[in-house]
Amino acid sequence: MLDVLIVGAGFGGLYGLHKLRSQGLRVRVLEAAPSVGGTWWANRYPGARVDIQSLEYSYSFDEALQQQWHWSERYASQPELLRYANHVADRFDLRRDIVLNTRVAAAHFDEAAALWRVRTERGESLDARFVVMAIGPLSSPNTPAIPGLETFEGPVLHSACWPHEPVDFAGRHVAVVGTGSSAVQLIPLIAEQARTLTVFQRTPAYAVPAHNGALEPEREARIKADYAGFRARNRRTRAGFGSELSPHPLPTMQVDAVQREALFEERWCVGGFALLGAFVDTLTDPRANDACAEFVRGKIRSIVRDPAVAQVLCPTHPIGCKRLCVDTGYYDTYNRDNVTLVDVGAAPIECVTAHGLVTGGRAHRTDMLVLATGFDAFTGPLTRIDLRGRAGLHIRDKWRGGPLNYLGLAVAGFPNLFNLVGAGSTSAFTSVIVSIEHHIDWIAECIAWLDARGHATIEATEPAEAAWVALGNAIAQQTVFLGCNSWYLGANIPGKPRIFMPMAGGFPAYAERCAAAAHDGYAGFDVH
Ligand SMILES: Cc1cc2nc3c(=O)[nH]c(=O)nc-3n(C[C@H](O)[C@H](O)[C@H](O)COP(=O)(O)OP(=O)(O)OC[C@H]3O[C@@H](n4cnc5c(N)ncnc54)[C@H](O)[C@@H]3O)c2cc1C
Repeated sequence: MLDVLIVGAGFGGLYGLHKLRSQGLRVRVLEAAPSVGGTWWANRYPGARVDIQSLEYSYSFDEALQQQWHWSERYASQPELLRYANHVADRFDLRRDIVLNTRVAAAHFDEAAALWRVRTERGESLDARFVVMAIGPLSSPNTPAIPGLETFEGPVLHSACWPHEPVDFAGRHVAVVGTGSSAVQLIPLIAEQARTLTVFQRTPAYAVPAHNGALEPEREARIKADYAGFRARNRRTRAGFGSELSPHPLPTMQVDAVQREALFEERWCVGGFALLGAFVDTLTDPRANDACAEFVRGKIRSIVRDPAVAQVLCPTHPIGCKRLCVDTGYYDTYNRDNVTLVDVGAAPIECVTAHGLVTGGRAHRTDMLVLATGFDAFTGPLTRIDLRGRAGLHIRDKWRGGPLNYLGLAVAGFPNLFNLVGAGSTSAFTSVIVSIEHHIDWIAECIAWLDARGHATIEATEPAEAAWVALGNAIAQQTVFLGCNSWYLGANIPGKPRIFMPMAGGFPAYAERCAAAAHDGYAGFDVH
């Protein structure tokens, strides 16, 4: 029997195994894919890379690792991230406890034995006292139900299940559906190779340049001179990264227009999420948000030469309401002669035919179809599993109206089950590795506490869960996050309840709440 079964060998599962095993626990990881790496194994489309700088999107738990690992670019690409995951697996001798090619099909809580009975798709059974779901917030790809999709005669590629062999776009007519983060990364590169590229856009994206390039040796040396201090300063920011830049001391609208514009420009030149951090109220005050949004719309109009195309590319929803895209040459791609933008918001995709797509009665011929249509975020990976808690309660029934949870880590009715970087935690607004390390450390401490006292189970209470979800909703009401149809709200999946799933209160406040619950003897949990 295992002490802990971890599902998933992405960055969450890898650190979970290392941490819990070094605490003397018997731990096993089951991973559906043939490799470790999670997100960075699956998402290998052209241009796939992080949107948070690698010095900040990386593990901090081991000083030698963070000193010795060298990132070649400011924003690492998918192959380098996958190498890093493999390096971590080897360096900490993790592979001996990881079973690859093994999808967990079911996990049922046996109340009499206070154990999880876990079954894989191949029919093997394992018992564990605790289960850690490290299955990722974005590991359940969403393929839209477009009529006729199965009749398309050319290749259909999804950005999140990209082939492992190189894909040759040369001389081909290519269509991309979607303009979220993955699409914004892959569109410029496919446009360079394809004969023509047609982009089908439902909602325009705000994209800010990454200004990616080789990692500057002086910056790397400066940060590594006090990496622990840098990480600690980052953990004190709302997003768990970006501590090198502070927001302006005044709210946006109290700063005169010239200075405001100058600060936006400065942040645009820094690149990435720096723009959203220029002022403290960008995500909470609609007027402040619109000032920032209008700055980006101005950039789009100045980059894209055809004013009609620029107009279609200009978003009208609040900036940051959907995840900000971090790009390399995205808007400029629409100046190419071989690229066409189709406004699906105005004329939706009606169907796919053997040779293309039809929108507004018009046929668009294509040889290859790329779906950059995102994920069933947060809940999708969990509800795909036959997961049953007390009295056979299925997670799909428990979450019919939205993902009830406490601290994002636990669900009432599902004792001894911990969820990583899912609904109810601030992870989506942080550098996710910061959240992963936080969650795993909290879980490790919790299991040690239970074992030291001879307790068999820990389970979130329903009142604690209700209060946590209410708090999440109340915080979201004070932000711009409810002002668009985002995956944070489940709005990209037909039929999914519209609930703001992540916690928007900022990482430090969230971490404090988790610590306070633990220090109060796991307040909000029943322990037996
Ligand atoms: C294209 C892309 C870019 C991203 N860029 C960033 C970024 O720049 N910064 C950032 O902070 N975050 C980013 N993210 C979010 C990213 O998901 C996290 O940063 C991080 O990789 C999550 O790690 P994880 O271990 O929690 O989950 P994952 O990496 O998703 O790993 C989960 C693993 O669980 C496995 N699994 C799922 N279900 C089962 C099952 N039933 N049985 C067995 N195994 C299962 C999956 O195969 C997968 O390997 C990005 C996500 C995507 C998709």
